[in-house]
Amino acid sequence: MANATPGSAVRVRFCPSPTGNPHVGLVRTALFNWAFARHNKGTLVFRIEDTDAARDSEESYEQLLDSMRWLGLDWDEGPEVGGPHAPYRQSQRMDIYRDVAAKLVDGGYAYPCYCTTEELDARREAARAAGRPSGYDGTCRDLTAEQKQAYEAEGRSHIIRFRMPDEATTFTDLVRGEITVQAENVTDYGIVRANGAPLYTLVNPVDDALMEITHVLRGEDLLSSTPRQIALYKALIELGVAKEIPAFGHLPYVMGEGNKKLSKRDPQASLNLYRERGFLPEGLLNYLSLLGWSFSADQDVFTIDQMIAKFDLADVNSNPARFDLKKAEAINADHIRMLDVQAFAAACEPWLKAPHAPWAPEDFDPAAWAAIAPHAQSRVKVLSEITDNVDFLFLPEPVFDEASWTKAMKEGSDALLRTARAKLEAADWSSPESLKEAVLAAGEEHGLKLGKAQAPVRVAVTGRTVGLPLFESLEILGKDRALARVDAALAKLTA
Ligand code: GLU
Ligand code: ZN
Repeated sequence: MANATPGSAVRVRFCPSPTGNPHVGLVRTALFNWAFARHNKGTLVFRIEDTDAARDSEESYEQLLDSMRWLGLDWDEGPEVGGPHAPYRQSQRMDIYRDVAAKLVDGGYAYPCYCTTEELDARREAARAAGRPSGYDGTCRDLTAEQKQAYEAEGRSHIIRFRMPDEATTFTDLVRGEITVQAENVTDYGIVRANGAPLYTLVNPVDDALMEITHVLRGEDLLSSTPRQIALYKALIELGVAKEIPAFGHLPYVMGEGNKKLSKRDPQASLNLYRERGFLPEGLLNYLSLLGWSFSADQDVFTIDQMIAKFDLADVNSNPARFDLKKAEAINADHIRMLDVQAFAAACEPWLKAPHAPWAPEDFDPAAWAAIAPHAQSRVKVLSEITDNVDFLFLPEPVFDEASWTKAMKEGSDALLRTARAKLEAADWSSPESLKEAVLAAGEEHGLKLGKAQAPVRVAVTGRTVGLPLFESLEILGKDRALARVDAALAKLTA
């Protein structure tokens, strides 16, 4: 029921401020807006809220665009693609805001407030001490022309404040249902700074109005600004600037470790971290979609197209969602397995060369990679794991990992390795089965099960106790190189 009726034109927006690295909370908001737009064959407007020159940066702006492209979240109007409401960067729309602010003042919907910060602070303190509501107290609401002149003559500057109605605001949140906020909890608020710069409180709803946004879907942290925006919208409608108040839906908080709200400063929250660790965009989006939404009771892995087909705000939950890295990785692993092997191999490419890969570029063997790729595909959770899993094929010698060595090389390991070496020497190296038989037989001679018998072989050949299936790995590495490594390990053990 929460989805717009078919045929009505859904227009949603994603409107981040370019103030730092994109974080997963932001991506979740972008994703829900995008999925809602795509499901309803509507329009996603991408708007850059860069009116805070002190905090915004061009670098963050570029990163936002790059992140959206990497994720595959395309937009219908916005930077680079343009659209009927261009420009889509608020820093280029200042004249529009100045004009609307003037209309609001002329119409009596807003007024100049001359209170100084010190005066406001002192009165707020006093109100708190007396147990009264501590928002703006309305001092400048009804100044006469003479009073304003007197303030100006004193050299005071003024901000522009929006006049909140004296009655409660009620609206139906698409996620949380009916919400009522009492007037005393939302007092008159600033919309233009003393230096003339418009604030978020003005520019965000003004652009939503001008860009004819029908649904505002955003994080719960912005819920408290909604009564103000609704009041401003009503003024804009009376002034002929807006047509209709959009519907609002507030997406639940995302909790991080220790049940604290995931903050954008949390390292776990950085989108770049997931890119660098080798999440697939579709794996990450699948996981992020579950932060407040569910696909079905018994399925949490699905494609982007399946998500679009099913996305309905009625299924968005108002309870806080918990960010769970393990689950994110498990879902990503499923998406890795869903790729065809060529696509998987291609996706791994960045991790097969510098700066990720430790081997010399000329030592990379595409045939060996092609042979090992299917085995790796079913085992890695994130693509960055690929490097360590295949380095034994491309390094001249296996890595030396002290912990692995100590764990696998026990008393008697040299004897076992000697037997295994002899049996491997005689085995059929075009068959992993035959290599397995060899190690199994060697183990039997020494009273060891396969798992125990293969550990020293694995460490001798790959350097690590865990890795891809051993016998396939041996076959791909080749008889000469594999046996030479067993010899080197034996030499080390007996030295
Ligand atoms: N630029 C605002 C932010 O990033 C947008 C808030 C909204 O969606 O209304 O918090
Ligand atoms: Zn004032």
